[in-house]
Amino acid sequence: MSMIVSLSGGGIKGAVASARYAGEQDVVIVHIDYGQPSARAEIEAVEALASSLPRTKLMPVAVPHVLNLQGGGGADGDASKTTLGDSEAVLPPSVLRGLMPMLLSVGVQAAFRIGASTVVTGMTSRGAGAHLGLPSAADAAHLRPQFVHGFAIALEALQAGRTKLRLEAPLMDLSDGEVIKLAGRLGVNLQHARTCQSPDPHACGKCEPCRARARAFSSVGVSDPATIPVVTA
Ligand SMILES: [Zn+2]
Repeated sequence: MSMIVSLSGGGIKGAVASARYAGEQDVVIVHIDYGQPSARAEIEAVEALASSLPRTKLMPVAVPHVLNLQGGGGADGDASKTTLGDSEAVLPPSVLRGLMPMLLSVGVQAAFRIGASTVVTGMTSRGAGAHLGLPSAADAAHLRPQFVHGFAIALEALQAGRTKLRLEAPLMDLSDGEVIKLAGRLGVNLQHARTCQSPDPHACGKCEPCRARARAFSSVGVSDPATIPVVTA
C-alpha cells in the first residue's frame, strides 16, 4: 500500500490536496515550522485536519535554521534571538525567497524516511503565493508549474532513474475559487484551515493571504466557515 506525504501549512490548499488522497491511501501531513510567526496556529490547524481525514497522520518538522540564515538568530544560531516580534507578523522577502525548495526538500526527506511513494504540494499556478516566496502568478502563471516540473526532474535524478518517489501538485491548474468548490465536493471542513500570517490565534483579515482567502470564497459565492474579520481598504 502506497503512502503519501502531503505538505501543509495549515491552509486551504494543503487541506484539499491532502483530502484528495485520504481514504484511498495512507496520508502523512508534514507541517514545517521554519520560524514563521503563525507556526503555532498552523499546527493547531493541521492537527484538526489530520483528525478529520481518514487514514491520515501528522508529522510536525522543525527547521529552525531558516531564520538564522538571515542573521536574525545571532552568531550562536539561537532562533529565540530572532528580531521578529509579535507586531512583525510578516517575514521579510529575503527569508521567503528560498522557502519553497526547502519545504519540498523536507517533504522528500520525510517521504524517503517513511517509504512514501508521493510527495504532494497544494501549490496552484494562479493563487496567492508571495507569502511562500513564489513568483507572482499575475506576472507569469507558467512559472510555478515550471518550478514543480524542475523539482520533479531533480528528484528523478536523485533516484538514478529508478523513480519510486514522485512529486505531485494536483491543484496546480485550479483557481482559488475552484479549490474551495473542490473542498466542498470532497467534504473538507475548512473551518480550521489557517490562512493568516499573524501569530494571533484568530485570523487578522488584513494580511495578503487573508484577503486572498476572502476573494476566493466570494468568487464562488460560498461563505467562509471560519470567523475572519472582513477588512475593506
Ligand atoms: Zn491575516
